[in-house]
Amino acid sequence: MNSLAGAAGQGVLGGAMADLSACPAWQADPAWSCIDLLSDVHLQADRPDTFAAWRQHLLGTPANAVLILGDLFEVWVGDDARSGRFEAECAAVLKQAARHRRLAFMPGNRDFLVGDALLAETGMQRLADPTLMLAWDRRWLLSHGDALCLSDTAYLQFRRQVRGAEWQARFLALPLAERQHQARTMRDASAAHQARQGAFGWSDVDDDAAAEWLVQAGAEALIHGHTHRPATHTLPGGLVRHVLGDWDFEAKPARARILRLSASGLQALDLGAAPP
Ligand code: MN
Repeated sequence: MNSLAGAAGQGVLGGAMADLSACPAWQADPAWSCIDLLSDVHLQADRPDTFAAWRQHLLGTPANAVLILGDLFEVWVGDDARSGRFEAECAAVLKQAARHRRLAFMPGNRDFLVGDALLAETGMQRLADPTLMLAWDRRWLLSHGDALCLSDTAYLQFRRQVRGAEWQARFLALPLAERQHQARTMRDASAAHQARQGAFGWSDVDDDAAAEWLVQAGAEALIHGHTHRPATHTLPGGLVRHVLGDWDFEAKPARARILRLSASGLQALDLGAAPP
């Protein structure tokens, strides 16, 4: 999958639904025991407990592959951010984990500027949004989820802009400190936007659009993150969408809902829960 994968994803947002029958596929090895799916870790220097829990999971999981479905980082302004101590520590964990298992990364709305340099250094494979996962004779559709939050039209307009090659080239040409400043400004604006919408007005994934994606891709179930509302929803036509949770080990109680897929099915794991 090359850098055009992002451009293909944009077509999905362009109003008319793109043809997902040609959606990029990711094939699991049938000899594997299990695959972990996670998203929304929101790694940031001032959440050391979350970083430690994520590190422990990535290095200790029995999974043969870990698929990260976006917002691994709270913010990523370009691969030269690895000059920062915290970002370098994150990259080192990914690199170490990738020596023992397959790692794949799908961009989210906060880390869509993860580039080929970070992927090459860490050994992570890029996943387009959406990707069709073929595993143990079943077809799953994987997405970050933000592209399906159709009611937030202001955000979708912003997304179209920042996922464009022109905007990205211009932004990445700015000095690192300026990009970090602008990212903070954008994050504050996003927080204010969410606060105005209120806790119950938060945009959610559109069930009809999710069902349409699944039909086009010939898949039965969608797995996504982004909304921080872990659940399993039944969609029109008997289809299903599974929602991953966000990670916060600074919170009491700590939380991190991931999904683990094996030949026997999908299992939700709450990593933040105290051991029995
Ligand atoms: Mn997100």
